[in-house]
Amino acid sequence: MRIWLYLLGIIASLFTVIYKISEIFYSHRLELDELNLLYECKECGKFHRRYQEEIQIRLDKNYPAYHHCPRCYGKASLYHGEEYPWMLTNPEAPKLRWRDVKKIKRIIHDVERYRLEDESIEKFLYYYRLIPEENKRPPIIESEEKNDTL
Ligand SMILES: [Zn+2]
Repeated sequence: MRIWLYLLGIIASLFTVIYKISEIFYSHRLELDELNLLYECKECGKFHRRYQEEIQIRLDKNYPAYHHCPRCYGKASLYHGEEYPWMLTNPEAPKLRWRDVKKIKRIIHDVERYRLEDESIEKFLYYYRLIPEENKRPPIIESEEKNDTL
């Protein structure tokens, strides 16, 4: 009888481990899918992906907000059309793979750190009136789709 209890305990802990691993896998999959969202610019017609917006909004103080083209700043919308094979490797908006997520998250983190340092320096310069007020960086406008994990 006791052996059955041990076996039941082992099976239950195996299920728990498998469940946790699948949960981690699923959350990484969701993160990858969100970073790979494909947008089409309404002005220039070019494609870009979500991770490019994440980097652009932190790098470029003239970039208006999310859902805008990183090249021409025109309005962009989610692309719902058929995804052709060339879109996966398109040099303007390559699709991220599993191993790229960690790199891109590190890049976004670094860019965010540099942006905050720039802001701090600009505040200092503005405080001592070394730069005029119109050069101040506008704050980032967070969209409702912003993921907290990034
Ligand atoms: Zn554009």
